[in-house]
Amino acid sequence: MAPVLSSTPTPFEANAAIAPSCHYTVALPQPANHLFEVSLTIQGWSLDVLDLKFPVWTPGSYLVREYVRHLQGFTALDAKGQPLPWHKVSKNHWQVITQDNSTITVQYKIFANELTVRTNHLDITHGYFNPAAMFFRVPAYESEKIALTIIPPSTWHISTPLPAATSQPNTFIAANFDELVDSPFEIGTHTLYDFEVLGKPHQFAIWGEGNLNIEQLLADTTKIIETEAAIFDGLPYDRYLFLLHLSANAYGGLEHKSACSLIYSRFGLQSEDGYQKFMSLVAHEFFHLWNVKRIRPKGLEVFDYDQENYTDSLWFCEGTTSFYDLVIPLRAGIYDAKCYLNKVSEAITQLQTIPGRKVQPVSESSFDAWIKLYRPDANSRNAQVSYYLKGELVSFLLDLLIRAQHQNRRSLDDVMRQLWQQFGQPEVGFTRDHLKAIFESVAEIDLTNFWASYIDGTAELPFDEILAPFGLILKAEVSSPVPYLGLTAKTEHGTAVIKFVEAGSPAEQAGIEPGDELLAIAHFRVSADQLNDRLQHYQARETVTITVFHQDMLRECAVTLDEPLPNRWTLQPVAQPTAAQQELLQGWLGIDFSG
Ligand SMILES: [Zn+2]
Repeated sequence: MAPVLSSTPTPFEANAAIAPSCHYTVALPQPANHLFEVSLTIQGWSLDVLDLKFPVWTPGSYLVREYVRHLQGFTALDAKGQPLPWHKVSKNHWQVITQDNSTITVQYKIFANELTVRTNHLDITHGYFNPAAMFFRVPAYESEKIALTIIPPSTWHISTPLPAATSQPNTFIAANFDELVDSPFEIGTHTLYDFEVLGKPHQFAIWGEGNLNIEQLLADTTKIIETEAAIFDGLPYDRYLFLLHLSANAYGGLEHKSACSLIYSRFGLQSEDGYQKFMSLVAHEFFHLWNVKRIRPKGLEVFDYDQENYTDSLWFCEGTTSFYDLVIPLRAGIYDAKCYLNKVSEAITQLQTIPGRKVQPVSESSFDAWIKLYRPDANSRNAQVSYYLKGELVSFLLDLLIRAQHQNRRSLDDVMRQLWQQFGQPEVGFTRDHLKAIFESVAEIDLTNFWASYIDGTAELPFDEILAPFGLILKAEVSSPVPYLGLTAKTEHGTAVIKFVEAGSPAEQAGIEPGDELLAIAHFRVSADQLNDRLQHYQARETVTITVFHQDMLRECAVTLDEPLPNRWTLQPVAQPTAAQQELLQGWLGIDFSG
């Protein structure tokens, strides 16, 4: 019943120069059962008790995911294969009573049937895992080398950023536990595409079929890598791996120091918009190899795998990276400046239609990522703002402030370069004061009020003021004259379910709640799809009866509709830009609206 043990290699003898104290083995004898079979052999153990702790989260995804809930069948054995006593101390902490044994083998299985970039997935087509969701760490020994041998089905191959051991097949060596955690594994019949950029080897490993044009994808990825390397003066790795999963309607990415995992809709790569969105995802995860993987805030300088790791700077780690994921494809020539401005306009529209922007500062959103961003509920839009979205737009404004002050001779790139030199290369965590000071030194502007209002406060972002030197204004539009009700509904199992009710809206004041089933307007049946069309029959300040089921009880609500609200914001050129405005716009985006 324990095939893993009999096939466990002994790298300590085979490759004495490496001399790691821990050797993991991962077998997948029956991929259809979604079970990875893991064994850990520790040699040279001298204490009476062996503590083993399973990570509760993985860096880059700020939620306690309780990975250990997928662990089953834990056993501990001595060198002769005899069981050793063990007990659990907490949800993720095991203690093995090692007695006088210097060689201990621990075995367990991990159920893997969750296909995302930050979880594990094993089926008849492939195995994918994140080491934080697979392996214990041995406290006090995290800085030691760890060997890892994969025993794949005979026709499958292995892709990982970890360096391979020269002496043993399918064996990889992590310099320490952090490097192990930072190294995802793809095991299967995935397709490999090698390419070289700036003299360094790069590879796409693609699982799943889809409508991608690989030549185009490699050419554009090359341009993205070159564009980002130009900001930071080179590439701080020996080789880089893009793991791409093509699946049904999936979207996501997880960054690593010399790899990233991407998941994307298999048929979403042909449309212009879908392809641009994918290249932004590539640009985003690649940019992270500097911003957040090496340029880390103090709270993420040393990872604590047992609990939440707090920082109020995720707006910079994620938001500034999101700012660059739109800028980089523009600079790489994947789309033009007008397309870029449209994408920024879409982001502004998203922000301006989220009521929570007036409630939660983006620094607080960063700090509370662990309990809020990844756990959305019906009230989230009323009370929260995403540090991705607002961080992106705050970064956009800070970039323009710097550009206007220095006539485009400086930009956010200079902030990134300084952070890279002071904090990224030595991998020392930055504080919020360091971050503000570097922005101020590049901008040569006192940003105290900016920080207080837009990062620690909830003031509306000053788009017009900061865009003015570039001859742009932000225009709010009402694209369809629907009186304001303040709810959204969605068809679920054939019924219209109210998903969101905006705080302070006519719908809320009339007592309509998320979860209510929408039935009728003015006593006539209405579906979720028909709601907006039907509301167009009414005027602002008109009172209409909306009928819902609230917890199985019929409820008639008298709703007084309000004036339509803007639902689209666009960046537009001013009517008659001055020469100075034209010059700044030209220097920033290389375009000129005057002609
Ligand atoms: Zn990110």
